[in-house]
Amino acid sequence: MTVGADTTDVVVVGAGLAGHVAALTAAEAGMRVLLLEKGDDYGGSSVIAGGGLIFVGTDLQKANGIDDSPEKLRDTLVTSGGGVAREELIGAYVDGQLETYEWLSAQGIAFSMDESATTEPFTRVHFTGTGVATHRLHQLVEEHAQVEYRAATPAVALGRDDDGRVTRVAVLVDGEVRWWSATRGVVLTSGGFSRGLELVRTFTPQWTDTVQMGGAHNTGDGITMGWSLGAGVADMPYVAATFGATCGDGTGEGREPMLLYPNYKGAVIVNRDAERFANEEMRYKEMGRLCIDQPGAVAFEVFDQPVLERSEELAAPLDLKAALRNGYFEQADTLDELADALGLDPVALTRTIERYNQDVRAGEDTAFGRPIAADGKPGAAPIETPPFYGYRTRPGLTSTFAGLTVDAAMRVLDVYGAPIPGLHAAGEVVGGFHGSGYYSGTALGKAAVFGRIAGRAVVGD
Ligand SMILES: Cc1cc2nc3c(=O)[nH]c(=O)nc-3n(C[C@H](O)[C@H](O)[C@H](O)COP(=O)(O)OP(=O)(O)OC[C@H]3O[C@@H](n4cnc5c(N)ncnc54)[C@H](O)[C@@H]3O)c2cc1C
Repeated sequence: MTVGADTTDVVVVGAGLAGHVAALTAAEAGMRVLLLEKGDDYGGSSVIAGGGLIFVGTDLQKANGIDDSPEKLRDTLVTSGGGVAREELIGAYVDGQLETYEWLSAQGIAFSMDESATTEPFTRVHFTGTGVATHRLHQLVEEHAQVEYRAATPAVALGRDDDGRVTRVAVLVDGEVRWWSATRGVVLTSGGFSRGLELVRTFTPQWTDTVQMGGAHNTGDGITMGWSLGAGVADMPYVAATFGATCGDGTGEGREPMLLYPNYKGAVIVNRDAERFANEEMRYKEMGRLCIDQPGAVAFEVFDQPVLERSEELAAPLDLKAALRNGYFEQADTLDELADALGLDPVALTRTIERYNQDVRAGEDTAFGRPIAADGKPGAAPIETPPFYGYRTRPGLTSTFAGLTVDAAMRVLDVYGAPIPGLHAAGEVVGGFHGSGYYSGTALGKAAVFGRIAGRAVVGD
């Protein structure tokens, strides 16, 4: 449908999870909303990601007998943020998350939990399935009389009135610039800059040599548009790639890169010299930092049939059988043959695995202290049962988790900390929430929770 000609109440820039939530929330308050999408398809990173969101105090947690609370979540986020996450934003998440969960559920989005989970973050991760939440909200957007969705319509600039209030958005339509007025304001939900090499080179050059993942059009446009009006940015020093991306060269060639974690099911990780360099149970962000410093910034996951058998269908990075079917792994009857297929020195790989197996049998990983698998818990087990599998991996830049400074109402702040009137932001375009660490499931969570806050705030602004 068409709302007005070139005037609407609220313009939302970017149609991922945050944009859909913000648009529908503003429309609930009676606003006419224009939801812009740069690509031909909506979704961005939100329809690629695993689909797990962090919530506490939900009906599902209670049904699973999980003792949790907003206060505990707050403590976790302060700790994972390394003391530099903005507590105001952590508070906004903690205070808004349960209402957001209930609102999403009321929109027809079903959540599930891993019922066997006993440790964080899994006792808090509410799964929707890849992209399910965004696809459902898009259906609601299409049906909503107050919301107009426009694909292939990138926002390219923001305009202010004489009082400095953001009241206009310039968009590209068939190569021509067209201005839209937004009487209530603009919400930036354009995602991160994982595909924006220029910003990666500018802010985080150490991650230039990574596999670029994330929404195809996530080039950081919201950050540069906000920045051009004097907005501050936060958390740039803490951008970190994620270990485990298929490279698109060698194994997985010609296929869309994906994250895979056979190491959390028992695989060994070696570098180009076929040497181990870490405890394979290490969290994937920390492992990414170690991997980028290895020769050629590459690593290789090596495993055997019992590891493959621990494949988990529910979680794409652990669905090793699907990855094998889709051609992401080399397979061989011997370690020598596997080494050849991966371009590793067979003698060195065999020596590394033999040493590792000896350690595991003796009950101690003397090199890196990897816990030995026991009582059904994951960890080190001998790599000895053919067929053997492996793939070449580099850190993948999936998300950037750093961006515009905002307050708890998602008002974009300038470099002096003052709100830029009429301008809000939500989702991955926002910085300051994750701090120096990333707690799994809070990125999608942040898109939804902050999208809800921004959608409400832009109406009342
Ligand atoms: C492989 C992968 C796995 C992940 N796994 C998890 C996970 O398990 N848990 C978790 O919490 N998070 C995960 N994340 C991160 C999470 O998916 C993102 O942080 C989150 O989806 C961001 O949502 P968003 O709505 O802010 O941005 P996006 O969903 O990226 O949407 C932004 C949209 O804005 C559009 N856009 C960009 N520029 C413009 C412009 N100028 N004009 C108009 N539109 C524009 C983009 O095309 C895109 O559609 C993962 C990410 C990836 C890539």
